[in-house]
Amino acid sequence: MRILVVEDDPAQVAILSHAFDKPGYTVVHEKDGKRADHLLSVYEFDVVILDMGLPSMDGAEVLRRLRHRKNNVPVLILTARDEVEDRVRGLDMGADDYLTKPFDILELEARVRSLIRRGHAGSGAELQVGTLKLDTVGRLATLNGEALDLSARELNMLEVLMLSAGRIVSKERLSEQLSGLGDLVSDNAIEVYMSRLRKHLKASDISIRTVRGLGYMLEKQ
Ligand code: CA
Repeated sequence: MRILVVEDDPAQVAILSHAFDKPGYTVVHEKDGKRADHLLSVYEFDVVILDMGLPSMDGAEVLRRLRHRKNNVPVLILTARDEVEDRVRGLDMGADDYLTKPFDILELEARVRSLIRRGHAGSGAELQVGTLKLDTVGRLATLNGEALDLSARELNMLEVLMLSAGRIVSKERLSEQLSGLGDLVSDNAIEVYMSRLRKHLKASDISIRTVRGLGYMLEKQ
């Protein structure tokens, strides 16, 4: 699970990083609002923990832009106890949950786990990009209505790419996501699956682009 922590207070960052310093979690930290906005427009996260008071762009604006891009990643906002206005503004802008500082670390962990679960459940049973469809419950991918003969791992990889269609998915994230599904996959294995997926999609309007040094992006041509 990939967590973006947007917070400019080093003490809070230390607490948050420590809380998720465990297997299955990767914490990416950013202290600047504008840079967080950029990260969120390029990379995919499973949950975002967002402080409201930030340098260069405040948390509410980061959130407004995120939702404007139709990005539904679960967001938990952090506000000071006496800043009711911040909380209301954050929820109005599309935050999923909030905690007031100082917060209990166990409560934070529980809220984050619940947001991640809701985020994944909310992605729906059928994904579609162009003529490519994936029934995530029945585990069947079709192209122009014809079933694709994909292995379980290829299907898992396709699902991760389709969930982030039009955005770059890093190799690291692919590996984490597939590991979470019970597969342990190396970078080399990812390249092999990627080339097989491309063969299946060759005659379609869908392509998987390699973005050098960053990862892969599934897109409709
Ligand atoms: Ca702050």
